[in-house]
Amino acid sequence: MIVAIDGPSGAGKSSASKAVAAKLGFACLDTGAMYRSIAWQALHDGVALDDGEALGALARSKPIDFAPGEAGGPQRVLIGGIDVTRDIRTAEIDRSVSAVSAHPQVRAALVDQQRRIGRAGDYVVEGRDIGTAVFPDAEVKVFLTASNEERARRRVAQNEARGVGSTDFASVLADIELRDALDSSRAASPLKAASDAVVIDSSALSFDEVVSAICDLARNRKAGC
Ligand code: C5P
Repeated sequence: MIVAIDGPSGAGKSSASKAVAAKLGFACLDTGAMYRSIAWQALHDGVALDDGEALGALARSKPIDFAPGEAGGPQRVLIGGIDVTRDIRTAEIDRSVSAVSAHPQVRAALVDQQRRIGRAGDYVVEGRDIGTAVFPDAEVKVFLTASNEERARRRVAQNEARGVGSTDFASVLADIELRDALDSSRAASPLKAASDAVVIDSSALSFDEVVSAICDLARNRKAGC
């Protein structure tokens, strides 16, 4: 079974996905981490962010792997064997990743990998185009959103907890709004809710309420409701 969770930055997709996956006994795939890893590699190698061919070649040639986190820490992300778990969460990557993810060559390479991973078992897959493009037949599709201010508040708290990324509310809000605009307006698989997605606005919901709502959708689907 695939539970697809799409939505804009800071809507709470990552924490909700992890909690839903733990409750359902599913694995979890963070596709944003894959685009961030390619952005990190491009900056590291000096590949221009507007060179779709070179970025596509990079995405096809550099394996991205996920490994269990240490002592309950976040799942580790590796590209070409290098651990980039922390480095992909910096403000610099926040500002670069949408330019990288807009290239169809990059998307084709990563979507292939995402489908291969997701088809291997029961997965909660989070991203921007999971319900629309990567797994259009996903059994459960959720579009998780929240107000811009609420998303910025949560992202600041997350950056503080992780000890990486900006903790300045105004600049985080501006980055979120810019990234939403870029992700929603690109030609290749833009950020949007699938027509058959359940839209959950988490602005006024507690974390537990969001997790329960998604788990209920998955359980009902499993039970054939
Ligand atoms: O979810 P996260 O904020 O880590 O995603 C980082 C970026 O990766 C997004 O802003 C978007 O540009 C890109 N992305 C995407 N498609 C996905 C997941 C992420 O284009 N499925």
